[in-house]
Amino acid sequence: MSPLRLKSKQCYAIGCGAQISRQMLMCREHWGLVSRSTQNEVYRTYQRLTRTDEEVEEVGGRDSLRPYVVATMRAQLEAAREQGMPDELLDILAADLKTMETPSAAVETVTP
Ligand SMILES: [Zn+2]
Repeated sequence: MSPLRLKSKQCYAIGCGAQISRQMLMCREHWGLVSRSTQNEVYRTYQRLTRTDEEVEEVGGRDSLRPYVVATMRAQLEAAREQGMPDELLDILAADLKTMETPSAAVETVTP
């Protein structure tokens, strides 16, 4: 069972209250503001997170949550930038992203 399994949830974009299906990160409108490369990164890291037990055995382990979190934070930052959010907010998001990208960040493995 994936730890990411939730019922419906809110769009991950800043200030958006749209309810979306749990397989999605953002509503259609905000997802469209995210660059293609970041969209692909979100898909790729999410797939690696939701590997089956057989696949985990094959590749020798389950990835930590961090690459997915980094991808989603980057998507959030890009959407905010495209929406013309204030620079102060973008700076905060960028700083958070940078912290998460560094190997010493606190979020590590997923506990089932
Ligand atoms: Zn949205």
